[in-house]
Amino acid sequence: DPLRILKMVKICCIGAGYVGGPTMAVIALKCPEIEVAVVDISVSRITAWNSDALPIYEPGLDEVVKKCRGKNLFFSTDVEKHVSEADIVFVSVNTPTKTQGLGAGKAADLTYWESAARMIADVSKSNKIVVEKSTVPVKTAEAIEKILNHNSKGIDFQILSNPEFLAEGTAIQDLFNPDRVLIGGRETPGGQKAIEALRDVYAHWVPVDRIICTNLWSAELSKLAANAFLAQRISSVNAMSALCEATGADVSQVSHAVGKDTRIGPKFLNSSVGFGGSCFQKDILNLVYICECNGLPEVANYWKQVIKINDYQKTRFVNRIVSSMFNTVSGKKIAILGFAFKKDTGDTRETPAIDVCKGLLGDKALLSIYDPQVNEEQIQRDLAMNKFDWDHPVHLQPMSPTSIKQVNVVWDAYAATKDAHGVCILTEWDEFKTLDYQRIYDNMRKPAFIFDGRNVVDEAKLRAIGFIVYSIGKPLDQ
Ligand code: NAD
Repeated sequence: DPLRILKMVKICCIGAGYVGGPTMAVIALKCPEIEVAVVDISVSRITAWNSDALPIYEPGLDEVVKKCRGKNLFFSTDVEKHVSEADIVFVSVNTPTKTQGLGAGKAADLTYWESAARMIADVSKSNKIVVEKSTVPVKTAEAIEKILNHNSKGIDFQILSNPEFLAEGTAIQDLFNPDRVLIGGRETPGGQKAIEALRDVYAHWVPVDRIICTNLWSAELSKLAANAFLAQRISSVNAMSALCEATGADVSQVSHAVGKDTRIGPKFLNSSVGFGGSCFQKDILNLVYICECNGLPEVANYWKQVIKINDYQKTRFVNRIVSSMFNTVSGKKIAILGFAFKKDTGDTRETPAIDVCKGLLGDKALLSIYDPQVNEEQIQRDLAMNKFDWDHPVHLQPMSPTSIKQVNVVWDAYAATKDAHGVCILTEWDEFKTLDYQRIYDNMRKPAFIFDGRNVVDEAKLRAIGFIVYSIGKPLDQ
C-alpha cells in the first residue's frame, strides 16, 4: 500500500467551515508527519484562518491552530493545487436544505458537493481517497462515484463516508476524545484498503475500539439517524414541558426522574425554547425527504413531528411572553439575552432567537439584544433575512425597515435590560447565571418580567427580588 510505505500522506480538505477548520486542525496536531491543507473558495474565510481572528469561535481552537499553522497545517484558496497534490481529500462543504425546485424545503442541496466532486475529477492526476465529511443523504456516495469515475481518466477514486459528530461549542474536546469515529466504505479490496488508510490517520489518537467501520450506506445513514435521535430527545422533553405547565409538574424534576433510568440516561434532557443550529432541522428534513422518496410516508411523518414540536415550542414561548405582558408588547422594551443557538459559539444559524425576536417584533416590541459572541451586523442580517418556511416552501416577506429600527444591539446585559419591561433569556451563556439580578430589577419598569427560555436562572431568588418569572416547563406565577 503506497500510503503506508511512504508514510507521507498529504491531506486536503475542501471547505474551511465549522467542521473542516477544527477537524483538520486536530488531525494536523495529532499527526505531525501529515501535511494538511484546508482550502475554500471564500477568500475572507481563508484570510481569517490565516490571521489572529479566526473565523469561528470555539474554545481551545486558537491554541491548536497556533501550534500547527505554517508547520503542517495550511489554509489556502488555491483549491486545485492542494486537491491535485493530496492522497486523501475530505469534502466538508455546506449541504443546506434546497429552497427551490424538486424537494424544496426538505431535500439537501448538493450543488456545492457536486461542484467539488467535478473539480476533484478535473484536477486529479493520481489515485485518491475522497472522504464525505459533510452530512449527506444516504446513497450520495453512489452519485459521487458516478461523477468521479465517469471523469476519471483512468484514476482510481475510493469514496469513504466519515461523518462528523462534533458539536459546536465543544468541537475541540469532541475531536480530541470522540465517542466514536465512523468510517464507511465499499466492501471491495480497494474500498477496504481506503478504510484502513483513513483508520490509520485517526488511530494516531483515537482508541481503535472507538473506530467503527461499516458499509457506505450505514455510515451515511448513521449520521442522519444520530442527529434525528438527538433532536427527538429535545422535542420529547419540550413536548412534556407544555404538559408540565398545564398540570403543575416541573419539567426539571420529570427529566431527572426519567433520566435516572439507565436505558434512557440523563444527557440531552433539558427543556428549552427549542433547538437550533445548522444541522438538526436540515438533517431531519433530509431524512423526511428520503423516507418519502422511498415510499415510507408514515416514517416520514414520525420524524416531521420532531420539527413541528420544535416550531410549536418557539411559538408557545412568544405567546406566553405577550399574554403575560397584558396581551401586548407594542412599544415595550424587551431585553434579549443571548442570540447564538447555544452557549460557547457565535453561530446563529437557525437559532430559536430569530423566531422569538421576529414574533415579538411582529407584536411591535422594541428589542434590546445582547450576546457575548454575536455582533450587531450579524443580528441585523439574521433578522432581516427572509425566513424560509419548510412546511410551506414559499419565501415570506423580508422585514420592513421600520421593524429593523425596533432592534437595538448592545454589548452588555445591564445596558440591554435598563428600562426594559421584560427580559428574555434565549442562550444559556454561563454569565447569565451570575448577573446582578437585583441591579437589573432596580433598573427595569415594573412589574418586571423575566422569561427564561433556557432554564438557567434561580427562579426562587428572582421571585424574592420581585420579578415575575416564567421558566419553560415550570409551575407558573399566579
Ligand atoms: P460551513 O458553511 O461553515 O462551511 C462550508 C464551507 O465550504 C464554506 O466556507 C464554503 O465557502 C465552502 N465551500 C463550498 N463549496 C466549496 C467549493 N466548491 N470549494 C471550496 N470550498 C467550498 O459549514 P459547516 O458547518 O462546516 O458544515 C459542513 C458540513 O458538515 C455540512 O454538511 C454539515 O451538515 C456538516 N456538519 C456540521 C456540523 C456543525 O456543527 N456545524 C457538525 C457535523 C456535521
